Amino acid sequence: MIELLFLLLPVAAAYGYVMGKNSAKNQALEQSRQITSEYSKGLKFLLDREEDQGLEHLTKLLEVSADSVDHYLTLASLFRKRGELDRAIKIHELLLKQPNLDEEVVKSCRLELAQDYILAGLLDSAEEHLVILVKLGFKEALDPILNLYSQTRDWRKGMHMYEAHSELFKKNSHCATIANFYCEAAVLENNPSLFEKATSLAHETVRPLYEMGKDAYKHDDYVKCIYYWRKLVSQFVFMAPLVLEELESCYVKLNIHEQFFELISELLEKGGVLIRIKFCQGMVRQGKISEAVEFLTDSLKREPSIRGFSYLLQLLSGKDAKIDHVLQEIDKLVKSYIATKPNYQCGHCGFTSHTMYWLCPSCKHWESLAPSRGLDGY
Ligand SMILES: [Zn+2]
Repeated sequence: MIELLFLLLPVAAAYGYVMGKNSAKNQALEQSRQITSEYSKGLKFLLDREEDQGLEHLTKLLEVSADSVDHYLTLASLFRKRGELDRAIKIHELLLKQPNLDEEVVKSCRLELAQDYILAGLLDSAEEHLVILVKLGFKEALDPILNLYSQTRDWRKGMHMYEAHSELFKKNSHCATIANFYCEAAVLENNPSLFEKATSLAHETVRPLYEMGKDAYKHDDYVKCIYYWRKLVSQFVFMAPLVLEELESCYVKLNIHEQFFELISELLEKGGVLIRIKFCQGMVRQGKISEAVEFLTDSLKREPSIRGFSYLLQLLSGKDAKIDHVLQEIDKLVKSYIATKPNYQCGHCGFTSHTMYWLCPSCKHWESLAPSRGLDGY
């Protein structure tokens, strides 16, 4: 009889297993039902603009399942896209209050909340959260906080942040932004030593070289100006039109104009139409007018340019009195056409302007404007 009871043991074990499984399944089903119910209620209240009650239900949902964080983030992002920033802020604030969230999730929520505050114009609140994130070494906070300091023109705050957390600044764009902060502060505080710092932290930026040359030019230190701007045009030939006229005048004032021609000859292959015009002007000074005409005509066939065409008209005039008048009239028309064209263009958003801006007024990128290229450009 006892042996028979042993035979029943596997049956009892199987029964226990099935019951246990069913009980776990039931528990999971009950939890899922609770999640769906709280989520639906919370969502309904939020959609009905009854935020307090909506958030109360969503808080309960968080207590039942921490996995629901993704739903919140999606929901908040949806509200933000619809421009309903108050709702997005409430959801992100709610998430940050939860005690058991993963550290990385908390950082993401804080970043999202800071983005909401920026869009809502609550810059102080945004800064507060972004500063916490930078102190925690969260690199994703660098772009928004640098944009925020650019917007508020808090150059010093940005510089202090860089000095305290320089290990986070690995990207060229971040270093270039800080270099521009140093330049802005140097100009604002009339403190040229800050330009040196800007150069040391970002070798791929134009601005420090430009500002140091400009400062030297302002103080009639032409040798120093040539030193910086020669470096600028050699390293960033596409920016040459920004300084070329003044750079040439430095060589003229020092009575070493031929050295400018040597520099232009070095840049000829990489440079645009302005470099080619300067090269032709060098040839004209040497009396080689026909060679200059031939050179420019050839280069215009390969790369058409309105500015090049205008200079060619100047080179051709004076040869025949009968057609001089016509050439001069055409040149006037061409020059007035050029005057309507923007001198600078943003490589990031396409914004165009007659004035050079180091911070693009449209997309807020630093050093994204450059002298325009192509048919109407330099
Ligand atoms: Zn732009």
